[in-house]
Parts: sequence; C-alpha cells; structure tokens
Amino acid sequence: MARVLVIGAGGVGRVTAIKCAQREDVFDEVMVASRTLVRCEEIAKDAPRPISVAQVDADYPENVVALIRDFRPDVLINVALPYQNLAVMRACLEEGVDYIDTAAYEAKDATGFTYKTQISEFSESYEKAGLSAVLGCGFDPGVTNVWVAYAARHLLDEIVELDIVDVNAGDNGLPFSTNFNPEVNIREVTLPARYWENGSFKEEPAFSTRWDFECPDNLGVYPVYRMYHEELEPITWHFPSIKRATFWMKFSDVYIDTLRALERCNMTSIEPVDVGGVAISPLDFLKKVLPDPGELGPKTVGKTCIGNIMTGFKDGKKKRYFIYNICDHQDAYKETGAQAVSYTAGVPPVLAAELIVKGKWKQPGVFTPEQLDPDPFMDAIGDYGLPWKLVELDS
Ligand code: NDP
Repeated sequence: MARVLVIGAGGVGRVTAIKCAQREDVFDEVMVASRTLVRCEEIAKDAPRPISVAQVDADYPENVVALIRDFRPDVLINVALPYQNLAVMRACLEEGVDYIDTAAYEAKDATGFTYKTQISEFSESYEKAGLSAVLGCGFDPGVTNVWVAYAARHLLDEIVELDIVDVNAGDNGLPFSTNFNPEVNIREVTLPARYWENGSFKEEPAFSTRWDFECPDNLGVYPVYRMYHEELEPITWHFPSIKRATFWMKFSDVYIDTLRALERCNMTSIEPVDVGGVAISPLDFLKKVLPDPGELGPKTVGKTCIGNIMTGFKDGKKKRYFIYNICDHQDAYKETGAQAVSYTAGVPPVLAAELIVKGKWKQPGVFTPEQLDPDPFMDAIGDYGLPWKLVELDS
C-alpha cells in the first residue's frame, strides 16, 4: 500500500485525485494540494472516501519539501502547471519520493516545450538516488507514447511513420473556450507547427496544413491541423526508424478565427504591459476572462477520440495500424465531475503511480513513457476507464 500526493487542483488534478481515491487497494492515503485550498476541498467533497487537502505554492521547492515531510508520500503526481516541474522534481529528489508529471517543463518566458531541461537537470541525480521520474504521462503526451512502444514490441519490426490524431468532437455550447489551462493551451497552439521528417524537425506557421480526418466508430469527419506536440521529441529520439512523425489536432473554424483575432490584437502575448502602473501579461488577463476549463464538465457533451496511426514493416511486409481511445464527456463528468479532456489526461498518471509502487515501472532515472514496459500499462488502462481499440488499416 502506498501514499500518494497529487499537486494541482484544476480539471486534471480533480480527475487524478478522485481516481487515486477510487483505488483504495493501491493507495491507502491520498492528499491533494494546490495553490488555492478551496479547490482541493471541493475535490475532497466529491471523492469516494476521505482524502487530505493542503495549500502549497509549488513554485518554491522548500514549500513542497515541507509538505512532503508532513504527508510522507511514496509517490507524487504533479498536475499543476509545467512551470512548477523543476521545483517539484527538486523537492522529490531531496525527500526521496518518486515523481510523475503530464507536461514538459517550460519556463514562463520560453518559446517551446521540451523535455531536455528536466532530463539534463535530474537524470543523474534521480538514478543515483534510486528514484523514478516519469515525465509527460497524461494522454497525449503519455498514452500516445506508450502506444508507440507497444507497436514496436508487438506489431511492427520497424515503425517508419507516425500520425497522432487528437479530436475533441465534444461541444460545450460556448463560442470560444480551451479544454485545459488556457495559458498552456494557447501558447501550445500558436507556436509554429513542427513535424519530424527525415531526421530533423521542419517548421511551418500554425494552422497551415489541414486534413479532414474520419474518426472511427461513426464519430464523424473533423478538420485536424498539423501542430507541434511535445511527445514528438522523445518518441523520435527513442525510435530513430521513424522517418515522419506528425501531430494533428482538431480545431473548428470559429476557434481558429477567434484565436487569429486575439493574436492580431496581441492578446496571446505573455510580455507584460503596463496598465495604470500594474504590469499585466495579456495572456494572463485573457485566461481570467475565458471560461474555466475545470467548470466545463456539466456543459460538455459528445466524445473525444485520440489515436496513433503507425506505419511500418513486419517480416518485410508494409503494415499500418490504428490504436485509439474514445472517451465520452458526460460519462467522465458523472464519474469525476470533469469533462473528457481532463479525464483522459488525469487517469494515466494514476496508473503510472500504481506501476511504480508495484515495481513494474520502478526504474531509477528520468524517463518518458515510451521508454518503459508498455505491457502492464496496456493491460490495465482499460479498467482504469480508458479502453483502447486496435485496427489494422489498408497499408
Ligand atoms: P488548470 O489550470 O485547470 O489547473 C492547474 C492547477 O495547478 C490549479 O489548481 C492551479 O491552482 C495549480 N497551480 C498553478 N500554479 C501553482 C503553484 N505555483 N503551486 C501550486 N499549484 C499551482 O490546468 P489543468 O488541470 O487543465 O492542467 C493541469 C496540467 O495537466 C497542465 O500541466 C497541463 O499542461 C497538463 N495537461 C496534460 C495533458 C496530457 O494529455 N498530457 C492534457 C491536458 C493537460 P489555482 O487554482 O490557484 O490556479
């Protein structure tokens, strides 16, 4: 039995904490801690058994150290924002706690998401301390990385092409909203679209390349656009046979038009401006006036579909496979009080924590999910609420 500390109480933190509380057979004590205590208390009210709550500002390692000394977790799941990753990893190292997160560290003033900082800063020290860190273990990144490892072990001798497709076919009735943290989401989608081709990343302006993607299980056809997503980085490091890797995400016309208008007005910039003597970042301000993704649960209907199309060779023959998950917004909401985007991101790190405490993913060092054994993850993720289907496509 293990003690788990969840940091962050947004939409994803809600799902992660409630899922941990459901697994009394694995986690005998659960704590959710975040910057705003009342959000933790709201989660605790909805949990299936009593869980502890605490206030913590995780920008400072010493605060997280104090919390760890008080609660004494075996494993920590960091689902606050990527800006806190280094501070939380440092605290886990100091106190000897295994670590999981769902998004690569990014400095507030940086222009891209990369795993390099966390890996270069902590690989050696985690390995020496016998601690495990699993980075980027939500759905995408996360499950999408595991699917690549699974295909490489069971389906293909060599993977040569990878398309990761993320379609939120749900509807919340609002003209413009983001599915998760608006600041992270808007920064991610306005970056140039980078994709892997023949040994290097190529770049084009955001929303340049569109594909009308037909979702499986009669979910419909949706426009998806090429964009950069952080799992492309470690997947292409660890599977060098991949010649082309692209991430595609669905955006509606109204979403793109609104975003372009906001960009034209400089509202997506993080550079602070002086407003009556107060320095305000336009994106921070925008975040305050946009709908809170954590509150979209009751309004959102429909489903999400995330899948990997992987092409390669098996015994010299060209093969193409599609592995995907479909998740229903209202089912996710009924179970956890959060919509499917938070649900798909919040469930996988709980399974990662279980695999670490049970020794199946306990491996000293800092890893991304495609480096770990995919089999116990694939065996259990369906029972956790995220079943997957595998189909062979025409090659
Ligand atoms: P939210 O903005 O809804 O929630 C973030 C939470 O972190 C809030 O509770 C916030 O507190 C808390 N927080 C922020 N700063 C601090 C701090 N300094 N100390 C302590 N707590 C802090 O985001 P989401 O729940 O939508 O997303 C959470 C994470 O999950 C993000 O890193 C996001 O990138 C990642 N994600 C990953 C996905 C995947 O599939 N891999 C998909 C979706 C999200 P407060 O309430 O005070 O603001």
